[in-house]
Amino acid sequence: MANLYAEYLPNIKTLAVTTVLQTPRDGTTALWLSNDRKKVILEHADETHRITLPAKVTGQGTQHLQLPNTGELQCVNRISAAPIFDDDEPPALWSASSLNAATNLHCKRCDALLSSNKISVWKDLPSEAWAEMMDLWHCHKPEEPKHTDDDAPAKKGYAAGNKLVAQAGVGLVDVMSFLLSDDDCTVEFRSSENGDNVHEVYCITCDTALGHRDPQTEGIRLQKPYLALSQGGSRTTRSYDPAHWFSCYLNQAIETQGVRKFVFSTLPYEIWVFSTNLAYASLEYPEPKQAMKVLFRTKQGDQDVETLRAANLLIETLTLSPMLEKLLYQVLQRENFKLPDSLKKFMGWEVAVLPVLYKADVKALESATYPWL
Ligand SMILES: [Zn+2]
Ligand SMILES: [Zn+2]
Repeated sequence: MANLYAEYLPNIKTLAVTTVLQTPRDGTTALWLSNDRKKVILEHADETHRITLPAKVTGQGTQHLQLPNTGELQCVNRISAAPIFDDDEPPALWSASSLNAATNLHCKRCDALLSSNKISVWKDLPSEAWAEMMDLWHCHKPEEPKHTDDDAPAKKGYAAGNKLVAQAGVGLVDVMSFLLSDDDCTVEFRSSENGDNVHEVYCITCDTALGHRDPQTEGIRLQKPYLALSQGGSRTTRSYDPAHWFSCYLNQAIETQGVRKFVFSTLPYEIWVFSTNLAYASLEYPEPKQAMKVLFRTKQGDQDVETLRAANLLIETLTLSPMLEKLLYQVLQRENFKLPDSLKKFMGWEVAVLPVLYKADVKALESATYPWL
């Protein structure tokens, strides 16, 4: 199938419209901007495709755009344009303020109820400390030098005696997970293969891995990308695509860690969040969305992050659990696959465009009755 992919980079105020044809152009092929300059339309091989532009193009009247040259199947039109989205901070998804005593937790895959009428209070872990807390919670992480007393979580007032402990009735909320006490959720524990005293946590109904039982916090850490939520007695469950979770995570990681390059802790890859504020539309999603561009590749060289940091390179390790690292890599590959061939690679990196949810998107999704990406 033909493809249209329009990407707007606010920093250079340029809209790039990539056109991909499946068969060479002929006398009936045409590509143009609509009369109101809000859409780009492609006619080819008896089919009409249209997408809404993710930026404002000035002027009016239809405007014809360049088609691929004879013998070629792709081309790019660059058009100067203005942003249609405001500079806004994307919110954390499922933060404590959006949850309450009537919030139920479900398995995303099979809808099975995991926790209902147990949690009376939800508390966000302080965002400036979440990376540190992830260290503390991380059960499979290789040994790292101990933190100094200066940055011990106890001093920040949310852990007693240098130890965060799950409490009955309280749901602790982190950007990518919930930490609950054993009694507050119904899941199955199983020892992981390497027998490191960590119990993986599975859905009793469909056997999907949902997270870990965490010996350090004596609680159960459920990963948000594997969950769905419902309210009170409603039978409607809500969840997000993993791509939304990872863009949310990476935005927070950039803010709290002050870097844009990250290595995986359990996989041989590195990523570079190249742009956090692009807007795009494609035949798959013909209405404009905000997104981030993430570059990824096999880790170069064998220096560890401590060495790179010592050399003043701005790079950190992802604070995702091993199961989420795997999922992130799958999502990056999946999103890379969706791009036109000419956009799949950039300076030796693979490219992925991850949609980012802003407040208005979250509101729209709450009232939507159809699956949304
Ligand atoms: Zn773990
Ligand atoms: Zn399930």
